[in-house]
Amino acid sequence: MGENMNIYDFTQEELESFLIENGYKKFNALQIIDWMYDKKEYDFNKMTNLSKKLISFLNENMIIKTPEVIKVEKSDLANKYLLRLEDNNKIECVLMNHDYGYSLCVSSQVGCNMGCSFCESGRLKKVRDLKLEELVGQVICVSKYENIRIDSIVVMGIGEPFDNFNNIKRFISVVINPKMINIGQRHLTISTCGLVPKIYEFADMETGVNLAISLHAPNNEIRDKIMKINHAYKIEKVMEALDYYISKTNRRVTIEYIMLEGINDSDECAKELANLVKGKLMYVNLIPYNETTHFELKRSNDFKIKSFYDILKSYNVNVTIRKEMGGNLSAACGQLRANVEEGE
Ligand code: SF4
Repeated sequence: MGENMNIYDFTQEELESFLIENGYKKFNALQIIDWMYDKKEYDFNKMTNLSKKLISFLNENMIIKTPEVIKVEKSDLANKYLLRLEDNNKIECVLMNHDYGYSLCVSSQVGCNMGCSFCESGRLKKVRDLKLEELVGQVICVSKYENIRIDSIVVMGIGEPFDNFNNIKRFISVVINPKMINIGQRHLTISTCGLVPKIYEFADMETGVNLAISLHAPNNEIRDKIMKINHAYKIEKVMEALDYYISKTNRRVTIEYIMLEGINDSDECAKELANLVKGKLMYVNLIPYNETTHFELKRSNDFKIKSFYDILKSYNVNVTIRKEMGGNLSAACGQLRANVEEGE
């Protein structure tokens, strides 16, 4: 069978078929899943309701493992975890403690090829996609590390989830499965920089999973400059795809908009953005940019952000300003990993 497979790399259906193929019963899958997800047991020998034969089959053919937490940065609103994967690659995820519970922001790839100009992750080119076991592993290892139940998940960390679409689909099935991670689909959000064909495919899945789009500019001229993806898929095409998603799902789309001084924060930009989204089932999340040492870009000042917000409000657009995560945390996604790899 070659190298042992990680049992966290299976959806329920995949594990059932695998066990049946190897002479075991379908219900054995749910017994094992209960140990993995409910009891977070990492030792097959301690899964006491399994037969001895099944336990030795698992020991011989599978491993049960999640990534390892190697560094944690804490602030009042968020904890950032640096995790080491089996092949020594590193990823990160961020735990936020909101009034409504714990929300975990997970990564979808090691590095990212989308090359957004404001993003630390884009500096670290994509090495590979994350496997299902690593997507799931982020959730299991952080909830085990902190001994908490995670209430919602956003796939908004390092990487472009729709560039790892097949594993994201499998991850969705594990997250919303009541026997597995058991987080309702309305508490799961996938964020894309705008891979238009995948937005259509995602819409056609007709799940209740939320969609967020990193728009960050109200027109092609600005978006071309700060997001390479806009060369492939123009704003009009992105907006059409979002309209399609809304028509299929009747779910509200989140428009993410990082406020960059002198680039996308003028009153004119606010009006253009308002005209793009007004009257649609969309809401705008304004994100004060976290300045990093690697880029020239600056965060818009509070006055500009407030006036941008007021203009959107005057068009009856639903808008919020995202709370900042505290100055002592490494700023943009990917920065913690970059710092460790550069030995800072
Ligand atoms: S913002 Fe997202 S899509 Fe863009 S480079 Fe960073 S991780 Fe990739």
